[in-house]
Amino acid sequence: MKYLYAGDADFQHQSFLELRPIAVWTQLLGELSWLASLLLSHPHQQVDAANTVLVCLIMLAGTVLSLNASHRHTLLLGMLLNLCGLALGFRLNMLFVSNTSLWSTSIAVCITLTMAPVFHSSYCFMLASGCVWAILLQGTLDDRRLWQQDTLIALLTLVTLASGLMLNILFRRLRLRGYHLRRDLEALAFQDALTGIDNRRSLLEKLQAWYPAQHGHFLMVDIDDFKSVNDDFGHEAGDQVLQQVAQQLSGHPDVALCGRLGGEEFGLFTRLLDSQRVSELAGQLIHRVNTCSVEQRRLSISIGIVLMDGRIGLTAALRQADAALYQAKHRGKNGFVLALPCGHPVPQQTLVQAS
Ligand code: GH3
Ligand code: MG
Ligand code: MG
Repeated sequence: MKYLYAGDADFQHQSFLELRPIAVWTQLLGELSWLASLLLSHPHQQVDAANTVLVCLIMLAGTVLSLNASHRHTLLLGMLLNLCGLALGFRLNMLFVSNTSLWSTSIAVCITLTMAPVFHSSYCFMLASGCVWAILLQGTLDDRRLWQQDTLIALLTLVTLASGLMLNILFRRLRLRGYHLRRDLEALAFQDALTGIDNRRSLLEKLQAWYPAQHGHFLMVDIDDFKSVNDDFGHEAGDQVLQQVAQQLSGHPDVALCGRLGGEEFGLFTRLLDSQRVSELAGQLIHRVNTCSVEQRRLSISIGIVLMDGRIGLTAALRQADAALYQAKHRGKNGFVLALPCGHPVPQQTLVQAS
């Protein structure tokens, strides 16, 4: 059953996006093959025009549906429609061939194996194969030669369906492996490995995408005396401190973006516009970090804040936040400084006295 698993919803959607163009091309190939077989094999025969047009329309309806599908279920419907039309089309050709059993079984084998990789789910593949084989074999019911060799045809059907199923599973597992690999690489490229929050690249990319359409405040946060934590308690303890602080900062409901800029420095974006409210937020963040400790030493942070109201570019905002952070450090740490819109830091009350 594990092999028949179609994957989670996200993987299925990715599969749908990847498979849609392949499904459309495969359908067009099938339609062309059918047209070629009809025109080239029996040019002098009288064609059943009404039925030919009908199967043509069924096939085309399936292809158009697949081409415009916005969900995997629509794509499946389009593929089913097209395959049934194709099988019916090839059945029409039986009128002109002498060995109908050979014709229908070879066509069924071809269709089954060609479409096997295009189905995102094995159950859907089995359903489609069942339809194709039923349509094509049903046309050979009166062919005595075929039914005299029913063991042989049963074996051929079984082997083809098993091979098709195997192909379907193998291709899905390949896609699944690629999907997991891509997800891991994305996590590596955009997530900070130690803390699990956004890394510098991801934070800045998100800020660039949000700003200046969205306004708010940017907070640059730096852990106070972090080097001494490493020196006194070891690098591992330092890493744990980084994780604790990242958790406290990113967990605040008013923080919309939180990333590690590097070392023991973090960047935060809040949509709060009012300076009073953002000051309260900074105070709460400092308080949160003060509740954490390493070996009974209380942790503290300093924060530089800048207003991002569209009048200042992102690079300038980061520079001003850094300057405000420097001021906060200079004034004794464990506090915050809010930069004036023109770039000069405003002195703010140090909220909590570091012990
Ligand atoms: P200040 O209060 O002025 O910010 O001083 P500080 O000691 O916090 O800052 P400083 O720049 O002197 O030291 C930062 C230290 O952070 C130095 C570096 O070894 C350490 N560090 C940087 N990245 C990591 C990391 O991923 N893990 C650990 N454990 N330490 C790190
Ligand atoms: Mg520091
Ligand atoms: Mg620093």
